Amino acid sequence: MLGTVTEAGTRDQAACIHCGGALADSESELFDTRFGIDGRYEVRRCATCGLEQTSPAPDAEGLQTLYETYYNFGGEQGTFYTKTRERFLASFLYRLWMQFDGDASFHSRKGSGRLLDIGCNEGRSLKIFAGNGFQPTGLELSERAAAVARANGFTVHARELGEYQPATLYDVAVLSNVLEHSLAPRQMLESAVRVLKPGGEIWISCPNSRSWLRSVFGRCWINWHVPFHISHFSASLLERMLVCAGCHRIKVRQVSPAAWLASSMLVAAFFSRGKPTWQLRNPILFPLTMLIGKLLLFPFLWVANKLGRGDCLVVVATKI
Ligand SMILES: [Zn+2]
Repeated sequence: MLGTVTEAGTRDQAACIHCGGALADSESELFDTRFGIDGRYEVRRCATCGLEQTSPAPDAEGLQTLYETYYNFGGEQGTFYTKTRERFLASFLYRLWMQFDGDASFHSRKGSGRLLDIGCNEGRSLKIFAGNGFQPTGLELSERAAAVARANGFTVHARELGEYQPATLYDVAVLSNVLEHSLAPRQMLESAVRVLKPGGEIWISCPNSRSWLRSVFGRCWINWHVPFHISHFSASLLERMLVCAGCHRIKVRQVSPAAWLASSMLVAAFFSRGKPTWQLRNPILFPLTMLIGKLLLFPFLWVANKLGRGDCLVVVATKI
C-alpha cells in the first residue's frame, strides 16, 4: 500500500521546478526517516539556479494522499504528548526557551494588523499570533485540522493559496516551514506576496540547505524529510526568489532549533528503513535529547548560525 502510493503518485524530476534548468545528482539513497514510508529518493541540484529538489517528487495527488495518511493533523487531541506540548507553548518557559534556542516559527514577534498563517494546521500558531497582538486568519487544506482551529474561534479558509482572493489585503503573510513542501515554490511565493498590502511583510522559515548539520548527519539529517520536502533552499537563492516576487528589505537570520537537532540525533541512533522512528514522538526521550544536544553543541550551533551554516533560515521581507 505504501509503496503503491509513492510509486503511483510520483513524477521524475527532469527539469528544475523553479527555472526549468537541467538537474544533476546531489544526494542519493535518501529514505523517509519518520513514518517508515517505503521508497528511495535522491536530491538533485539545478545547474542554472542552484535549487536542490527531491526526486522523484510526488505529484499533487500523491502528495495529498501522503499528507492525509501520515503528516498533517490526524485528529490527535487530548493525548499526553499533545497536552504537554500545548501547556509548554502557552507557558513563560516557552518564551524563555525561544530566547535561548532561536525563534523558527515567529512566535516571539509582537505587532498588530491582519496576519495570514499559510498552512496553519490546527491553529497552534494562530493562538500565539493573536496573543502577540495580530488579527490572524488561517489557510489550511486539511478540513479536519481547519475544523479544530475554527472551533477555537479562528477564521480558517480551506483552500489553495493560489486561488485565495482576500477581500482585504494582509499586513503579514507567514510561511513557517511550508515553502519547502510546495511543488511550485516560485508560484507560492508570488501568491503570498500577492495577498499582502504594499509595505506588508512576508515571514518565511525553512531548512537551510547549507546547514553544517547536513554534513554531520548525512542521510540522517532530519531536514531531507523526503518525500515531503520538495525544495531545499539556500539563503542566497531564497533572497533572489523574493526579489523576483516583488520584495525588498530582505533580512535573513539563521537559527538551529534544538528540536531539529534532536530529531537528527534520534534518527541517526534509531532509524531503521521501512519502520517509523517512534523515538521522535517519545515525550521523555525527545525533550531530553533536545536539551542534552543543545547544551553540548551550543557553541558550535551559535558559530554555525553566524557563519551562514545554521539549520534553519528565518527570513523577513517587505513587499514593494
Ligand atoms: Zn533552477
